[in-house]
Amino acid sequence: MTASTPPATRASIAILLSDAATGLSLQLDGDVAIISYDLPDAPVNTINTRVAPVFERMFAEIESNQAIAAAMIVSGKADSWIAGADIDELRQITTAAQGEAMSRAGQALLTRLANMRKPVVAAIHGATLGGGLEVALACRHRIATDHAKTILALPEVQLGLIPGAGGTQRLPRTVGLQAALDMIVTGKNIRAKKALQMGLVHEVVHPSILMNIARVRAQQLARGIVLTLPTTARTIGARLLEDTPIGRRVIFSQARATVLKKTKGLYPAPLAALDVVQRGYADGFEAGLAEEATRFGELAMSAECRQLVYLFFATTALKKDSGVASHLAPHVQHVHKVGVIGAGFMGGGIASVAVQAGSLVRLKDASLERVLTGWRAVRDVVSERFTRRQISRMERDDLMHQVGVTTDYSGFANAELVIEAVFEDLAVKHQVLREVEAAAPNAIFASNTSTIPIRDIASVSAHADRVVGMHFFSPVHKMPLLEVIVTSATSADTTATVVQYGRKLGKTVIVVRDGPGFYVNRILAPYINEAGNLLDEGVDIAAIDAALVAFGFPVGPITLLDEVGLDIAAKSGPIMAAAFGARMQPSSALRRVIASGRVGRKAKRGFYRYDENGKRQGVDREVYPLTIAGTTRVPREAAMIQQRTVLPLLNEAVRCLDEGIIRSERDGDIGAVFGIGFPPFRGGPFRYLDSIGAAQAVAQLEALDAQFPGRYTPAERLRWVASHGKRFHE
Ligand code: NAD
Repeated sequence: MTASTPPATRASIAILLSDAATGLSLQLDGDVAIISYDLPDAPVNTINTRVAPVFERMFAEIESNQAIAAAMIVSGKADSWIAGADIDELRQITTAAQGEAMSRAGQALLTRLANMRKPVVAAIHGATLGGGLEVALACRHRIATDHAKTILALPEVQLGLIPGAGGTQRLPRTVGLQAALDMIVTGKNIRAKKALQMGLVHEVVHPSILMNIARVRAQQLARGIVLTLPTTARTIGARLLEDTPIGRRVIFSQARATVLKKTKGLYPAPLAALDVVQRGYADGFEAGLAEEATRFGELAMSAECRQLVYLFFATTALKKDSGVASHLAPHVQHVHKVGVIGAGFMGGGIASVAVQAGSLVRLKDASLERVLTGWRAVRDVVSERFTRRQISRMERDDLMHQVGVTTDYSGFANAELVIEAVFEDLAVKHQVLREVEAAAPNAIFASNTSTIPIRDIASVSAHADRVVGMHFFSPVHKMPLLEVIVTSATSADTTATVVQYGRKLGKTVIVVRDGPGFYVNRILAPYINEAGNLLDEGVDIAAIDAALVAFGFPVGPITLLDEVGLDIAAKSGPIMAAAFGARMQPSSALRRVIASGRVGRKAKRGFYRYDENGKRQGVDREVYPLTIAGTTRVPREAAMIQQRTVLPLLNEAVRCLDEGIIRSERDGDIGAVFGIGFPPFRGGPFRYLDSIGAAQAVAQLEALDAQFPGRYTPAERLRWVASHGKRFHE
């Protein structure tokens, strides 16, 4: 660090301190000191152990320098202010004591900031997350820009942690208990306008005047002018509840119940957050800080935190992955014009995410009536964003202008990418592919098929190098995963172009080799089938679902079937059985329930009963006579139900790795977590296998295979990993 008096860059601006290693600088503009942060070689600013001492020195300079009346903190990054603590450093923690010490250090730094005699203004533009928001909360005044990139959040729970630099204590004291708990236990993003309403920031301004307003406010505060938070921050009702011990007890117990309902008690962080906030109310700020540091240290060592942090890094790494080996140096084509064929359930969804990514979309179906159904589906998704105030009326209208409908191929000629989502029928797919190759001669042809091998679709293509699978999940605008399926003929350029475009659509993209069920549906099939086998053996529908929810899946396998639709399972079941034999044989229960005409929620008739509004009523006991055990139901322990269904899923994931269906354990973990909701706190199939131990998994599979021959035979690679005492993730 260099400390100096001017060389001034502008007549009135003098650089007081600057530190090239951290990108922190302290400049004096008139009587206002500006702390500017621009971490070198990093996309976002983070708080780490290297920047803390530099901040300390800057705070000391601000306090001691007579020429400084007030200060402000700004970011040198275009889209973010401070995006949180350095998660890489979190990974280095090996004991709870180290984690606690890290939290204590962060708290001390921000206590110093909060106690500065001279006012400090946070001039916020861009993502202000975790440790970043904690810095802002320790400032006397917060101004945020009214910009889509400006979001504020304490997302630590999403990594299995809690805020560790005083956030659990400062946030409730700033926005009130209920609003703070909501932010801390969910980690949700707050936009600038909402932040103003709830009193998280003092004012919201246009980005172009942020610096000027911040400077003026700093000077006003220095002159002793009191700038209060918006008075609308808390309603009278909220105050009555929050400002009395009895009221707070009610709030905490309700919050705990909500968290337990949502997390099934599987995630310790949100519960710890509640304890820590409560401690601060019961015993004061300092006690709250002490509890925060202790719990932060403990959580940093928890298995859940390790897995969630692993997934964070895996996802980040995947974002930088072109989808092909780097030596192939693919040419990535910019995709702007996209054709979508089939304006049904999936086609409408695909079009809706494409327009939101800025693409010009031409949506085609066989009749005007059908194509308009798809157009309306796009409008519904886009309008929902308007209703949620995420976009303006004008933006909504502009987005809708990007989608055009057609019943022929007009507008397709210069599309760079055409995605088909027509009926799941090879002859129809062939016909569409031939038509597209004539109408859009330069386009990549992507199929959204869920079961047909891409090579079979590509077999009639004149450019098989430009044929690929883009397997979206439903509902497309909500589901985060995209499987890009490549055949041996798909070119690296095609793969990399489609991967990049998928990412532009906001999806987490894994590249998967062609094969029945690709990856996600392939690992799902034995899991679903074994749930059906349990049903045949007499296990209760609700018990099966409850066991897998207790394992950490968002819904159980039978509920999943009802949600996805039994018609879809009916199509994929026989294909998987034909390809993989006994271990993928759909259960008799499943086949007979499908044959009974039940389709699931969409027809209000499945394994569960639904009222006329589609609200679920309970298990439909008329299903039981269709199972082998009939109406006789037998109790089964949750742990056994979990083993019977989850082990074959894990086993199949290992086979996919062995066969090169997935490129890595990482992709297998991400695909399962984002594609089927495999419990994130278990890290994905491969991380979970590592945590239980491959040898243990093999032993359990062998025991089950003796009971149900051919259904649980351990994958060769799993045996190998077990017998060599290895792990999937070394
Ligand atoms: P859908 O029946 O809702 O829509 C299919 C649409 O394609 C219909 O509107 C139909 O009129 C249209 N169509 C059929 N032939 C056509 C042609 N020759 N030209 C133009 N349009 C034509 O079906 P969906 O559920 O949207 O499924 C579409 C594809 O997506 C299938 O391949 C399916 O396997 C796959 N998929 C579905 C899901 C799902 O959950 N539904 C998930 C992933 C993938």
